[in-house]
Amino acid sequence: MAMDKARISTFFRRLKAANPHPTTELDYRTPFELLIAVILSAQATDVGVNKATKTLYPIANTPRAILALGLDGLKQHIRTIGLFNSKAKHILETCRILETEHGGEVPRERAALEKLPGVGRKTANVILNTAFGEPTIAVDTHIFRVSNRTGLARGRTPLAVEQKLIEVVPRGYRKDAHHWLILHGRYTCTARSPRCRDCPVHDLCEWDEKACCASLKAPVVRTDAPIARRPRRGAARTRTASE
Ligand code: SF4
Repeated sequence: MAMDKARISTFFRRLKAANPHPTTELDYRTPFELLIAVILSAQATDVGVNKATKTLYPIANTPRAILALGLDGLKQHIRTIGLFNSKAKHILETCRILETEHGGEVPRERAALEKLPGVGRKTANVILNTAFGEPTIAVDTHIFRVSNRTGLARGRTPLAVEQKLIEVVPRGYRKDAHHWLILHGRYTCTARSPRCRDCPVHDLCEWDEKACCASLKAPVVRTDAPIARRPRRGAARTRTASE
């Protein structure tokens, strides 16, 4: 059974109350820095990406500067990240296209973003949402799991879930839904051991197995419990581009 409209509204009201200004855990200051960080984050942790970009961006944080580094120079900064060889090639080609076709700027159009090497629909949605404030929802593994498990938006593919979410998430919550759902999936509704007993939307969730997870240790379910958040470095500056 799918979650009804009133419950969906309550679901997001609770997540918003717990975290009024959610944002990405990737460190960035410009749309270009975010784009490179998101390309690097495929099959890598945000912590690992932030470590790499911490040394890369002070040296090169524009398409032109990264092109000047060259392939070997770029690899020196990102070699701790999985798939760094192919990511380095994608990033250099992306920088070349940004320089030659977009005046060195990150385009705000989905079609143009998806033409960049290493950028698919999910990455384009992240950039449109977080760098440009568009109400897009990038369905990653966390959002896919949470949406299907809770009954919020069930679908067999990320695209089906994305389309369903866009249809059911109330307009006022749509821009931040992306980050609320990712953070909820990353820290509370985790894949192997969801923290149902601490979940702020436990009573709304339609997952059949939540009862046994909720009764593992504590009998009390706090429906107003805050979702876990990492203390964010430079929170004010990272939110600027997304709000
Ligand atoms: S009750 Fe459990 S399964 Fe449902 S959303 Fe919360 S953590 Fe996830």
